[in-house]
Amino acid sequence: MGGYRLSSPGATLAVMEKYNLTARKRYGQNFLIDANILRKIAEGSGAGKEDTILEIGPGIGTLTQVLAETAGSVVAVEIDRDLIPVLEDTLSDHPNVTVINEDILKADLSELSVRYAGGRPFRVVANLPYYITTPIIMELLRKEAPVSSITVMIQKEVAERMQAQPGTKDYGALSLAVQYYSEARILTEVSKECFLPRPKVDSSVIRLDRYGALRREDFSLTEDTENLMFGLIRAAFNQRRKTLANAVSNDASLPFSREETGEALTGMGLSEMIRGEKLSLAEFAALAIVLSKKR
Ligand code: SAM
Repeated sequence: MGGYRLSSPGATLAVMEKYNLTARKRYGQNFLIDANILRKIAEGSGAGKEDTILEIGPGIGTLTQVLAETAGSVVAVEIDRDLIPVLEDTLSDHPNVTVINEDILKADLSELSVRYAGGRPFRVVANLPYYITTPIIMELLRKEAPVSSITVMIQKEVAERMQAQPGTKDYGALSLAVQYYSEARILTEVSKECFLPRPKVDSSVIRLDRYGALRREDFSLTEDTENLMFGLIRAAFNQRRKTLANAVSNDASLPFSREETGEALTGMGLSEMIRGEKLSLAEFAALAIVLSKKR
């Protein structure tokens, strides 16, 4: 099937028929069938010939073909074993693509970067399986992950949560992690018609450019206070309806009483009755610094 362009409904159906494939719901398989969106994702990722792209879930290789023409090389990690022979066929004209049959959440990204990108960070580009968007993003944002940018198709609602500001219903632990580790911008919205089969929800393409290792300095944090800040964030949004001081004292992994957190908050000029959903990233960081001095 060399030389075959996949970016149309007809070409996608032909591949599915040839290999007797049905899109697997449990793997979140919704294949892209719109050439315009494929181009927008590849161009919007900022990848060039000097980059190695890590693609999560190549499916039948539709986006992979476009990425292989955009970047120096592509490492594509696909969980579904049945798609591997399909990818060997559809990507046979693209020798700069390596397909790996693995669950991305179990893959050792550092090892992949040493082996396929000379130890340099990847640009991640993907039409993500929606059932595990949040764990994948959290993993890619992790401090040590060799990733410089993440350009992904996700549910529109999740993209909005990533950009949400304090005091809104969408604001939560995901917003804070994304905003701490990266600068986020939505590149485009995508209608259901661009996929086969059609998903139930609308989608967006979002690009996250990771801040470098000096991010802690922006908030005067150390490794310990950074960990404490994420502990406070987790406690705050696990018990969103409670005051922050109560949520913190109820969290078994945090050693602070309601009074201690209340005092720290009033010392910062905030109400001791405030809920976590009202605090900005800078305020969570400041609270972690104040509380760390109590231990
Ligand atoms: N990239 C293709 C496209 O745009 O047409 C397919 C995208 S489809 C939304 C998501 C892909 O991710 C599927 O191929 C699915 O099998 C794969 N996938 C699901 N869970 C995965 C995991 N944990 N690790 C790697 N790939 C996964």
